[in-house]
Amino acid sequence: MTAVPDSLGLVGFDEVLERYDPAFGLEVHVELNTNTKMFCGCPATFGGEPNSQVCPTCLGLPGSMPVVNAKAVESAIRIGLALNGSIAEWCRFARKNYFYPDMPKNFQTSQYDEPIVYDGYLDVEVEGETYRVDIERAHMEEDTGKTTHIGGATGRIHGADYSLVDYNRAGIPLIEIVTRPILGTGAKAPLVAKAYVAALREILLGLGVSDVRMDQGSMRCDVNLSLSPKDSGTLGTRTETKNVNSLRSVERAVRFEMSRHAGILDAGEAIFQETRHFHEDTGTTSAGRPKSDADDYRYFPEPDLVPVAPSREWVEELRASLPERTADKRARLQVEWGYSDLEMRDVWAAGALSLIEATVAEGASAQAARKWWMAELSRSANDRGVELAELGVTPVQVAEVQKLVDAKTLTDKLARQVFEGLLAGEGTVSEIIDARGLAVVSDDGALGAAVDEAIAAQPAVADKIRGGNQAAAGALIGAVMKATGGKADAKRVRELILEKLA
Ligand SMILES: [Zn+2]
Repeated sequence: MTAVPDSLGLVGFDEVLERYDPAFGLEVHVELNTNTKMFCGCPATFGGEPNSQVCPTCLGLPGSMPVVNAKAVESAIRIGLALNGSIAEWCRFARKNYFYPDMPKNFQTSQYDEPIVYDGYLDVEVEGETYRVDIERAHMEEDTGKTTHIGGATGRIHGADYSLVDYNRAGIPLIEIVTRPILGTGAKAPLVAKAYVAALREILLGLGVSDVRMDQGSMRCDVNLSLSPKDSGTLGTRTETKNVNSLRSVERAVRFEMSRHAGILDAGEAIFQETRHFHEDTGTTSAGRPKSDADDYRYFPEPDLVPVAPSREWVEELRASLPERTADKRARLQVEWGYSDLEMRDVWAAGALSLIEATVAEGASAQAARKWWMAELSRSANDRGVELAELGVTPVQVAEVQKLVDAKTLTDKLARQVFEGLLAGEGTVSEIIDARGLAVVSDDGALGAAVDEAIAAQPAVADKIRGGNQAAAGALIGAVMKATGGKADAKRVRELILEKLA
């Protein structure tokens, strides 16, 4: 085999579209939030001491026998129904055989040609246009353990001194949701890919089946991308960029691979079918391992598990209990919250719908919730290149800050400093207010002295007010606010000024 070019120069995005049509596909792994693992009774919680949540079954010890977690099957069916899919009347688990140190059984219990969900779709909206993403299948499987490579510069196995394996994650229930190749999105391909993952996340959150934290790996995306000559109607050779772990990165990975593929194709070379690593810092990809369509995992039906045959009655019961569809919910909330079309579209595009909903549920008004999430916090998320949900500020905290603003304990300006503290990890809302001394000064003694100083410093303004021009008080209020570092209760300051100059 001749050397394969990794990249022959990148082609500008607009230029790619002059000569090629992109097709993308997404494989999304979602960790279910069941109490126990997929095939044993070990706790499935995140963050335990390494290897403290294991047993003979999830460690693959000889003689141990798996049992299917009914709750995981229920979650899989609910996900399938929410994605407009068909639910198999009968399906089996299969062994996917390969060796990896974090997979102690040397096979992963998964599903192969008999997935529990097939033929679904999800409609996603980008800039006012709707695109249908066809979902080929969603299947159940178990997660592997987690390997951490110690030493070496890259965190990868190459160059590491040694590696640590934690099997707590081994056996956590996963659903893998696989789309068909998505064609015809043209220049919108990166945005549609991102919008699909965002919409999928909203649905999973609404179902309550996963905490879908991309930053913690409970939702992980593999992004397939290929280019074909413009209007040829064919599918080109694809690459699969693994573990793209934020919405923004999904968009960037599609965009980068389009530019890279075009460079190779323009040079008359062929795309090498392989996996790619995505690099968050640069937004680029690098070669992983070759991947053929027929990687031989020697799949065969799992002999230790009975087939899964959900009754139609159960499926219909689950269908009847599904939460409101996202599109319906969006329309309903827009009316309830009194947002304009544009405001709602921005909220949706920013992935803020659930966050605002949760903030309102905690007692904040819809306008206040939108103000904090869409202005203050969106700006911080953009600066940091992360999604709103990954900022580390919770709806409960936003509602707590707004309650203090409503109670006039904080001004908007002070509230912004509380958010600054939250983003910097300085502690809880009350800890930050104490540590930074942020509470509003409404004590008349302290304010009175500042008001007297302001009056003394601006006698001409004071005369105007005495003469009945109350609007002139603004200059004095400004001076008091400045003197108190923005901590004064502006309404009370105004009252004091008018009393003193009456
Ligand atoms: Zn176990």
